[in-house]
Amino acid sequence: MVAEGTGTGQVSSVMGDYALACAQFSWSTAGDWLDGLPQGGRNIAYEAVDRHVIHGRGDHVAFRFVASDGLDVAWTYAELAERTSRFAEVLRELGVGPGDLVCGLSGRIPDLYVALLGTLKARSVFSPLFSAFGPEPIRQRMGIGHARVLVTTPALYRKKVHGLRAELPDLEHVLLIGPGSAELVGAERIGPGVVPLAELWATTTGAFEIEPTDPEEPALIHFTSGTTGTPKGAVHVHDAVVAHHATARYVLDLRDDDIFWCTADPGWVTGTSYGVIAPLTCGVTCVVDELEFDARRWYRLLEQEHVTVWYTAPTALRMLMRAGSAPHEGCDLSALRHVASVGEPLNPEVVHWGLQEIDRPIRDTWWQTETGAIMVANYHGTEVRPGSMGRPVPGIEAAVVARDPQGEVLRGPDGGPIPLDEPDALGELALRRPWPSLMRSYIGAPERYATAFLGDWYLSGDLVRRDADGWFWFVGRGDDVIKSAGHLIGPFEVESALLEHPAVAEAGVIGVPDPIVGEVVKAFVALKPGFEPSDALHRELIGFGRSRLGNAVAPRDITFQQDLPKTRSGKIMRRLLRARELGLPEGDLSTLEVPS
Ligand code: ATP
Ligand code: MG
Repeated sequence: MVAEGTGTGQVSSVMGDYALACAQFSWSTAGDWLDGLPQGGRNIAYEAVDRHVIHGRGDHVAFRFVASDGLDVAWTYAELAERTSRFAEVLRELGVGPGDLVCGLSGRIPDLYVALLGTLKARSVFSPLFSAFGPEPIRQRMGIGHARVLVTTPALYRKKVHGLRAELPDLEHVLLIGPGSAELVGAERIGPGVVPLAELWATTTGAFEIEPTDPEEPALIHFTSGTTGTPKGAVHVHDAVVAHHATARYVLDLRDDDIFWCTADPGWVTGTSYGVIAPLTCGVTCVVDELEFDARRWYRLLEQEHVTVWYTAPTALRMLMRAGSAPHEGCDLSALRHVASVGEPLNPEVVHWGLQEIDRPIRDTWWQTETGAIMVANYHGTEVRPGSMGRPVPGIEAAVVARDPQGEVLRGPDGGPIPLDEPDALGELALRRPWPSLMRSYIGAPERYATAFLGDWYLSGDLVRRDADGWFWFVGRGDDVIKSAGHLIGPFEVESALLEHPAVAEAGVIGVPDPIVGEVVKAFVALKPGFEPSDALHRELIGFGRSRLGNAVAPRDITFQQDLPKTRSGKIMRRLLRARELGLPEGDLSTLEVPS
């Protein structure tokens, strides 16, 4: 257990007393923390941008873009309000309106953020596509939503989209942004309906009145990471902003003078919900880094931008761990008061590393594309239990529910799931609906959507335990859990134990069939710099695993593998490790990261 406020330099937090915050919370009160549209309803872009201008904070910096070419850009809330209004005007001029799908495909450049928020102002629906996707995942995602507009760069259009046009009959307009787009103003079109945004900008005024927006109107479609199978497109509505805002305050502890850096790309739900919407609703300054991970540069960025709150992912933290102390030597990180993580289980070793190396506890948060906002968290100013996901956010009722040996959630007499109330019982994490950011459908997959619910409960598919004090502990995804000699073994526990060994940088653990015990544990291990695979290290790690975990749970076999397969959002793809190990079909690989 890590003491309250350790290393943060500041213990007071918005959360204060957890039990009291939960007791006093209601979603309707949380809705009142925001403004609502003067003309009626609720619109995400209004809550994130325009209302700050109305409240006199138009001069505050909303975004600081750290560009790859060194030409950094800062935009105030007033500038952001004007640009997003212009974008909404462009859509209106093109006849693109409420409910029409606009996709974004670009790196982290300023106009992508304008397109996202401007689309929401126009009451159209935005779906971000990760810029490193190949043509096929782009075609699938745009096709399933019948996208009418794509916002992208000339280079990405030429490379990935132009050749698909015959297969995208609904795509009418391609708006070009970023490098090389201004040069195309007035030039011959590079494809049907392809126009530089700057060309349409010329006739806009910067004044756009958002129409009354029903809070239940669709606003965003986010595709899941594809870690367990084919990605699903979760549809979110404007009211989700109530959950974004409440969790940004309670979990990220954001106040309007914070400088906030979320390292996730807006091609994924974290990068949109917590890289754009949630922090802007709190009136903070968001840092956006156009470049990819580099340990030294990241530490320098934290220092130079005076980042106060940092939201990142276990994979990035493990890479920083792997890089050792040298990259942050001499860096002044004193502005940093709160570090949080999401996306994968956060190994206790990483929490301890945070305390030792950067003098900050790293606070885990759990949520999913489907939940739309953080659901379980370790809160700023409260104790951290290394290895625990934390406790449910105020307004969220979480339960551990029973599954049968095949992994199906069991039904109780009322048709709903059966809660397991005894401490440390293993079951599936379920959340009682509704809450504002819960997905409203999976686009094009109503049957799959229906199976995500049982009675009043949303079923997460993740296996957890809850301790006697109400803290949740991640065990593994339902599909990744290993069944060995009557035990259920969570890969997270095994991976975390291996990470305690000084040679291990990262580990992915799977079950392989065994005629006697059902499945045995197998680990794939990436080594830290300075360590080489050898028989001696193999033996040592097997022994280390046994000493930490006992013979029944420890890996029976270990393979050294420097690049573990990961999704482009940074999650270890255990299903692919397993498929490759067993020679099974590899399944949907659209989100697989291809090592550069
Ligand atoms: P798919 O549903 O397509 O397989 P995915 O589940 O990885 O992809 P996301 O919605 O991006 O797609 O990820 C949510 C999942 O990530 C969670 O269900 C959980 O398994 C994992 N996850 C997120 N945060 C945490 C965390 N703090 N601890 C453990 N696991 C986490
Ligand atoms: Mg999932």
